[in-house]
Amino acid sequence: MSSKHPNVEPLHKPSDQLALIKQATQDWQHNDNPLVRLCRRLSTSLSLEHLIAVVAEELSALVPYDQFTYRHRIGRQDFVYASGLGGRHRCEYNLNLQGESLGTLVLNRRARFADEELSAIEHLLGVAICPIRNACQYARVEQAALTDALTSVPNKRALDEALWKACCISDRHHEHYSLILCDLDRFKNINDSYGHVIGDHILKAAAREIEQAVRHSDSLFRFGGEEFAILLPHSEEEDAQVVAERIRTRVADIQVRCGDRQVKVTCSLGLATRQSGEHPEQWLARADEALYRAKNQGRNQTRTSDRIR
Ligand code: GH3
Ligand code: MG
Ligand code: MG
Repeated sequence: MSSKHPNVEPLHKPSDQLALIKQATQDWQHNDNPLVRLCRRLSTSLSLEHLIAVVAEELSALVPYDQFTYRHRIGRQDFVYASGLGGRHRCEYNLNLQGESLGTLVLNRRARFADEELSAIEHLLGVAICPIRNACQYARVEQAALTDALTSVPNKRALDEALWKACCISDRHHEHYSLILCDLDRFKNINDSYGHVIGDHILKAAAREIEQAVRHSDSLFRFGGEEFAILLPHSEEEDAQVVAERIRTRVADIQVRCGDRQVKVTCSLGLATRQSGEHPEQWLARADEALYRAKNQGRNQTRTSDRIR
C-alpha cells in the first residue's frame, strides 16, 4: 500500500542544499556551452528585437553566415530583423510551435550548408522557439494596448508616445513636425438620428479615408470618441495645410447607407506645427485651440494655430 505523505528523509541537509544551489547558479552563469549561453541570454528579455538579435549572434558563433533575416507579421505590423548581406546558398525555417506560426528565418552564405551545420541550427532554434513565442505574444499584447479596437488605428496612448518621440527628434535634428486634430462635426446628431451602429460605420470609414489622405510616413491616431490626430514628420505648416484640406474633402465624400438614405458627415480640423522646445501638451493644446476656432467659425474647415513668440 502506498502512503500519500510518505515519511521521506530529505536527500540533503538544508545547508548542503544551499551549497548545491549556489554551485548550480555559478555553473549556469559561467557555463560557456553555446546552448546554455543562449538559454541564459534569452531569459533576460521579452523584447522580440532583442531576442532575435541574440539568436543571430549565437547562431553566427556556431554556423558562419553572410546574411540573417527574420520576418514575422504581428497584428498590423511587419516585424523584420536583418543583418549582413549576400550569399546564394540559403536555408530557411518556418518557425512554428504547437501550430502557432512564429515567422520565417533565413540564412544566406556563399558556401553550402553542411548537414551537421543544419543540425546545429535546428538544435539552437529548438532552444530559442519558446522564448520567441513568448516575445511574439508580448508584442501582440503590447500592440493591442496601443490600438483602438473599433477603427484598428493607434490610440491615444500611442499618440502620447509618438508626440514625445517627435519632440525629441525635432529638437535634436531640427526637423519640422506638424500635428492635425480632426473632429467629426455634429456627430452626436448622427448617432441620435441613425443609431450608434451607423455612427460606428462612419468612424471606421473616416479612419480609412484619413489613412488614404496622408503619406505612409504620417501616422493616424484615434485621439478620442470622434476625434482623430495625424502626426506629420518633415512637414511645415503649408505642407500640413494641404494634407488637412485633403482630409476634409475626403471625409465630406463619405456616404454610409442607412435604409434608403445616405448618411454624410463633415469634419473640422486644427493644425499646429511644432515650435522649438515645445512640450507635447503645449503643442497639442495649440492644435486643440485651432480646432476650437474651426468649430466656432462654422465647422467643416481647417484653422491653423498662431505661432507663440
Ligand atoms: P461638434 O461638432 O461640436 O464636435 O459636435 P459633436 O456632436 O460631434 O460633439 P459632442 O462632443 O457633443 O459629441 C460627440 C459624440 O460622439 C457623442 C458620442 O456619442 C459620439 N461617440 C463617441 N465615441 C463614439 C463611438 O465609438 N461610436 C459612436 N457611434 N459614437 C461615438
Ligand atoms: Mg465632434
Ligand atoms: Mg469631439
